Amino acid sequence: MPTMIVTGAASGLGKCIAEHAARAGYKVGVLDLVLERAQVVAESIGGVALEADVSDLPSVENAFETFGETPDVLINNAGILRTGPLLDHSLEDFRRVMDVNLTSVFLVAQIAARRMKSAGGGCIINMSSINGINPSTQCGAYATAKAGVIALSKQMSMEWGAYNIRVNTIAPGFIDAGMQAPFFENQGVRDLRSNAVPLKRLGSADDVAECALFLASDKAQYISGENITVD
Ligand code: NAD
Repeated sequence: MPTMIVTGAASGLGKCIAEHAARAGYKVGVLDLVLERAQVVAESIGGVALEADVSDLPSVENAFETFGETPDVLINNAGILRTGPLLDHSLEDFRRVMDVNLTSVFLVAQIAARRMKSAGGGCIINMSSINGINPSTQCGAYATAKAGVIALSKQMSMEWGAYNIRVNTIAPGFIDAGMQAPFFENQGVRDLRSNAVPLKRLGSADDVAECALFLASDKAQYISGENITVD
């Protein structure tokens, strides 16, 4: 049975990816900050609940120990959004966004890759954002971290390709789920955003999960160091 750990899998995109993965036959490690929230998802898909703060090395190592086996696939999906103009961003907020959205990608991927190297290979998918390519107003720290995720992932793919570890990123656009869902409760915002998209609709968590499952699969065997926008 193939194995996958998804971080930030208690809600939004991570939860949807975990559900798709379970349906595709993976044993899924549902990792999130609060064990009880991870348990709800893990129980619904027959996965393993894992508690960790992705910015905290000991807690992530502990979660990998609990999972027990080297994951074939790691999806670094956990993330937070702090909005506001850079002139008003507190240093504390800026650092927290970097810690959870960028440093964690290094931390968790390194733990996984060391194991994958010993196991003969693996696949890592890191969640960026369309803001990592095109910054927008009020998202300075977030956009910077998400741009860093793309650069860091390319670096990983260069260094870890020799160990048969593929590393790619996904950059979702306007997705009607997770942290963006509150914005889309307003019909005016929904219409405005939908009309700004060439396909004239908001994206769904399923759209992102399908991309993740493709990149994780053997169909993407020769794809590494890429970023796919799902927008
Ligand atoms: P979400 O808030 O629904 O889910 C994020 C999950 O990450 C939550 O379950 C949260 O508990 C967990 N998390 C936060 N901090 C954590 C930490 N320190 N350790 C462990 N878990 C932690 O948001 P989402 O929209 O599903 O976002 C998932 C990812 O997709 C994020 O990286 C986000 O930046 C990215 N993204 C989302 C959208 C969108 O439209 N929803 C667009 C582009 C990118």
